[in-house]
Amino acid sequence: MTTTHNPPLDTELEAATTTATEAAVLTTVESLADELDAFSHDLHAHPEVGFYEFRTVRRVAELLARHGVTLETGVGGIPTAFRARAGSDEGPQVVITAEYDALPGVGHGCGHNVIAASSIGAFLALAPLLADGRLPGGVTLLGTPAEEGGGGKELLIQAGAFDGFDASVMVHPGELDAAAFVANAKRQVVATFRGKAAHAAGNPQLGRNALDAAVTAYQAVAQLRQHIVDTDRVHGVFVEGGTRPNIVPERAVLEFFLRSRTVDSILEASPSGSRTRSAGRHLPPGSRSTWSGTASRSTCPTGSTARSPSGSWRTRSRGATSSPSSRTPVSRPARPTSAT
Ligand SMILES: [Zn+2]
Repeated sequence: MTTTHNPPLDTELEAATTTATEAAVLTTVESLADELDAFSHDLHAHPEVGFYEFRTVRRVAELLARHGVTLETGVGGIPTAFRARAGSDEGPQVVITAEYDALPGVGHGCGHNVIAASSIGAFLALAPLLADGRLPGGVTLLGTPAEEGGGGKELLIQAGAFDGFDASVMVHPGELDAAAFVANAKRQVVATFRGKAAHAAGNPQLGRNALDAAVTAYQAVAQLRQHIVDTDRVHGVFVEGGTRPNIVPERAVLEFFLRSRTVDSILEASPSGSRTRSAGRHLPPGSRSTWSGTASRSTCPTGSTARSPSGSWRTRSRGATSSPSSRTPVSRPARPTSAT
């Protein structure tokens, strides 16, 4: 029979401190549980899409104000990004990120309401311990909008909102327990096809069908799948495809997600010669964040600038980024030579 022991703690004092700290956190969390639960359910009942989480941010501010915490909004020039601080600027600095946007047409299918509640709860449980010196260092609660495709964290990284921290933590609800998991780099490509409208029965010869071009491109991507590496993913939808059958579509839009194991490998599979830019496509008017992105390095029909049989088409793709379902360390993208 083998007997195992926990590793000995350095000192009795450390053991006592750890126990007292944990007890204090647990007590605070217990006292906050009903409030956090109600907050989470309220967000779930009032979903808001990326960059338009205005009601949500008001609710966050109200919740924190009840506990004496002031919320700073507009972090990084994004109206619905927010930040709150506790503790000292000296010592270890930890950022707890909170997500809170929802999926269009679905709502909080990904559980970002739960992320917001759990991150706020963690922050509120730690704040009193940091305030009176029972814990060293500082903790920042950072609200990162538009994680369902807008790249809110990427914009905030570029704005410097993550600078100076020793660690960044967050939990995401899922169907399994995982302290860490391997995930993919993701890139989003929006391809807009431009043709020429005409009456489809009266004078079709004058038109150029943008939808036909989009369909051709979509089929080409589908045929490409046989020849990409097994760990890459390409999946897309038609966002626009015309208005009425009797009008030759002058505009069609496809949106694709590309996923790969690493940022480098996703750049390898990215459009050649396209000017790309990163997160923030749905930023509301007045936002100060600017586009940026990465220059891609190899060939993929998914996003090349090209002539279609019935009109020119061009792409607008975002830089390699991570999402809740696709996290990998992301290098800061270079500025594009110009915007498209
Ligand atoms: Zn998510």
